[in-house]
Amino acid sequence: MKKTTQLYEGKAKKVFLTSDSDLVIQEFKDDATAFNNKKKGSIAEKGVVNNAISCKLFTLLESNGVRTHLVEKLSDREMLCRYLDIIKVEVVVRNIAAGSLVKRYGFAEGTLLETPIVELYLKDDDLDDPLMNDSHAVALGVATYEEIAVLKSRAEAINLVLRKFFADRKLKLVDFKLEFGRNKGEILLGDEISPDTCRLWDLDTNEKLDKDRFRFDLGGVEDAYSEVQRRVLELD
Ligand code: UDP
Repeated sequence: MKKTTQLYEGKAKKVFLTSDSDLVIQEFKDDATAFNNKKKGSIAEKGVVNNAISCKLFTLLESNGVRTHLVEKLSDREMLCRYLDIIKVEVVVRNIAAGSLVKRYGFAEGTLLETPIVELYLKDDDLDDPLMNDSHAVALGVATYEEIAVLKSRAEAINLVLRKFFADRKLKLVDFKLEFGRNKGEILLGDEISPDTCRLWDLDTNEKLDKDRFRFDLGGVEDAYSEVQRRVLELD
């Protein structure tokens, strides 16, 4: 399958059309951004690592009955995907308090949440991706109530699969962000799942092994991403 025109260039990926109108190619870049583009940089080999991790996790989810856009890993940086009409909702699932949950509600970082929290954000950089509820999403016309219900239940199911997978690899899945899209009347999981979109802490030491190392200049960013890749791909 060959790339034709570039459809889109985002912060961490480019998406290309192909000769098959149902298929696109996602190309993972090394560029890194944080705080809605206010911090910019690059993480060596991040594109290769995130593509490998995402392909593995999407395959794991497919084998657990979760439909995703993944067709196959094409190369180090390329993933062949089904074309999605992206739903402009970012679904965040939280198992442990961190990040904006700490800032917004005053939880102590690291607090275990008895029941996972599922949040919806409007996918709109100009508005800084505001937190929203089901009625906002419907009023804005980004999804129907039925679709929102599917996104939430899908996100909860994905959380159970991923939490167990990471725990087996001595990683705590603190929180993560998902994006979904429509394809031929079905809702599929899209985008990526990687240390860019998840918070992952070492089970024993709570060391942060994710994009927070870049966000807060903690150092050892590349090593953290490679360590996650090693645990996800080599410990099978
Ligand atoms: N996240 C993401 N993209 C975004 C916003 C959040 O991938 O545009 C991920 C983030 O990496 C974390 C989770 O979603 O794993 C929750 O992020 P949070 O709301 O705490 O915001 P942040 O602290 O990242 O600004």
